[in-house]
Amino acid sequence: MPPIFDKPTVDKYDYILIGGGSGGSASSRRAALYGKKVAVVEVDPYLGGTCVNVGCVPKKIMWHAADLQDKIAHHASGYKFQGIDAPQFDWAAFKPQRDAYIRKLNGIYATNFEKEGVEYHHGLARLTSANTIEVTRPDGKGKYTLNADKICLTVGGTPTIPSDEDIPGASLGIDSDGFFDLAEQPKRVAVVGAGYIAVELAGVFNSLGTETHLIIRGETVLRTFDPTIQETLTPWMEKTGVKFHKSSQVLKVEGVKGQTLTVHTDKGEKIEVDTVLWAIGRHPLTKDLGLETAGVKLDKMGNVVVDEYQNTNVPGIYAIGDVQGKALLTPVAIAAGRRLSNRLFGPEKFNKDKLDYSNIPTVVFSHPTIGTVGLTEPQARKKYGDSVKIYKSSFRALYFSMIEEEHKEPTVYKLICVGPEERVVGVHIIGMGSDEIMQGFGVAVKMGATKQDLDDTVAIHPTSAEELVTLR
Ligand code: FAD
Ligand code: NDP
Repeated sequence: MPPIFDKPTVDKYDYILIGGGSGGSASSRRAALYGKKVAVVEVDPYLGGTCVNVGCVPKKIMWHAADLQDKIAHHASGYKFQGIDAPQFDWAAFKPQRDAYIRKLNGIYATNFEKEGVEYHHGLARLTSANTIEVTRPDGKGKYTLNADKICLTVGGTPTIPSDEDIPGASLGIDSDGFFDLAEQPKRVAVVGAGYIAVELAGVFNSLGTETHLIIRGETVLRTFDPTIQETLTPWMEKTGVKFHKSSQVLKVEGVKGQTLTVHTDKGEKIEVDTVLWAIGRHPLTKDLGLETAGVKLDKMGNVVVDEYQNTNVPGIYAIGDVQGKALLTPVAIAAGRRLSNRLFGPEKFNKDKLDYSNIPTVVFSHPTIGTVGLTEPQARKKYGDSVKIYKSSFRALYFSMIEEEHKEPTVYKLICVGPEERVVGVHIIGMGSDEIMQGFGVAVKMGATKQDLDDTVAIHPTSAEELVTLR
């Protein structure tokens, strides 16, 4: 078992990180690689942060289960597979297996710290000055102090739930953390929200056979995404069984947790479910972190304000990942963390190392999946006016040629190009495999690819992705 430290081993560390999630782990390990004395303080008994414990990883596993259910229930018969008429996902049996895999990952995080010489302190951290951190040990075993030249805030965020004053009964609901605690599959669920988490978790529930209600304030999901994506996914989710309650707000939730809950909306609807899941955004864990004492500036949402080098306004204090409120994605936290350590502790060539936050590719694990990079069409038109040219294609992937009409998933690809050279400033795709297709096109956009560059690339056949290099 890798060691867990419960007191300082030196008078002063080179670098201390508060939070052992995606960003904290990556940045600490990179600093240790440069021979620095590094400590990470993590309050959760399980290392790895949101992504590993209650985010990307268990979510993607559940997405795979849901995807498999769709394939077995709706696609396999088209390929003339026999004897699989009523597939039944056993949530209760699957959860402990998923949890066991996550525990393995927690162990790998701890082992990596040990191998690379990062001290792992288990406790709740709070700044008491710009160079001092007070650590409260778990289980009331007292406090100690760590001193450091440099401190990085990597505390991430947590789901936002309305207060019971704002929405009576809101606390009868769960959030995405609670989703991963569900020991049994709910028969009926109401998901509130229209962003990444609402879409992904509603998709999982729906595919796995839970009666799924999605309560959204607007007319479509993913309103910050390109309109083509919104207009393709929303009707497809409806067609596949998600019961939408559009332009609706929750007024109150009534009932008893664990039994029937009734969600009342401002449209007069009363929706009866077993579980209500709030997915209306996340906020940073900056309260009670002693940031006022150290003088660290926050924005009005509570995010730590940083410059392009991840510097806060206090010299020697930095912030990376979700806590700085921009691009809440694991690879962003990791990349920013590694680059920060390169700049602070690495060789001279890294003196100006920083993460470029432009053109970050991202994927939504909906059914079907979505991939996107760069500007949406409205953003491009606002920035580049008439010099925007759109290429778009809607088609059915070959895979669905054998599958009955009702279950043929849509595929829509859209390129946004600008100027006479038709530089590609946005790629938005939805359809089977979009999650895996996107990474390469992310590279192309980052490198400044033009439409001609895509046209000059020989297609890979027969795939869906080839459509992106043959668009007319
Ligand atoms: P975190 O990983 O949240 O780590 C912060 C750590 O700090 C936590 O372990 C916390 O316990 C600890 N901490 C907080 N306060 C203190 C304190 N005072 N003292 C000590 N420790 C403290 N991103 C993707 O790229 N792809 C996905 O598919 C994806 N899916 C997601 C699905 C869900 C349901 C959620 C919620 C998020 C998902 N994300 C995804 C986002 C991703 O998880 C985050 O962007 C990422 O985890 C941020 O890393 P971080 O290091 O900033 O924070
Ligand atoms: P998001 O910011 O993506 O979406 C939250 C949505 O909830 C808003 O867009 C808004 O949509 C709606 N909303 C906000 N307030 C309310 C309210 N009071 N009542 C009803 N609806 C409301 O947040 P998520 O919590 O879904 O995810 C947080 C972040 O985590 C994401 O932004 C993403 O960066 C990351 N993540 C990444 C994933 C991935 O990479 N695949 C997966 C999951 C999370 P509207 O304005 O339309 O009402």
